[in-house]
Amino acid sequence: MVKLSTSQLKEVLGWASRQRDAKGRSLLERARQSLLSGSYLKYNTSLSKAEDGAVVWDCDCPYVQKTGKPCKHVIAHIILAHMEELRESSKAWEEWVNEYWSKQVEEAINAFAQF
Ligand SMILES: [Zn+2]
Repeated sequence: MVKLSTSQLKEVLGWASRQRDAKGRSLLERARQSLLSGSYLKYNTSLSKAEDGAVVWDCDCPYVQKTGKPCKHVIAHIILAHMEELRESSKAWEEWVNEYWSKQVEEAINAFAQF
């Protein structure tokens, strides 16, 4: 997965936290929910870096087709690629990442329990 520089990561997540939908939820919060629920896997999302280091993203969801702006799936993939960095960046991220990981473990255990 593509790694952003610390300043790029801050910039992208800062931007996402300022984007609000009609219900007042930030794009960042919707991306976190999308990761927790697993719904970020619903669309084909890609993330790469150009030769000059710029972030190149794409997603085939309706939001991107309509607005041309990064969607919650793109932000979700960026969060996923930087879990360790984010966990160390603040208490709030640490708590969120821990919640995400414990949910992943719980789901894996439940999946095994099906056998
Ligand atoms: Zn999308």
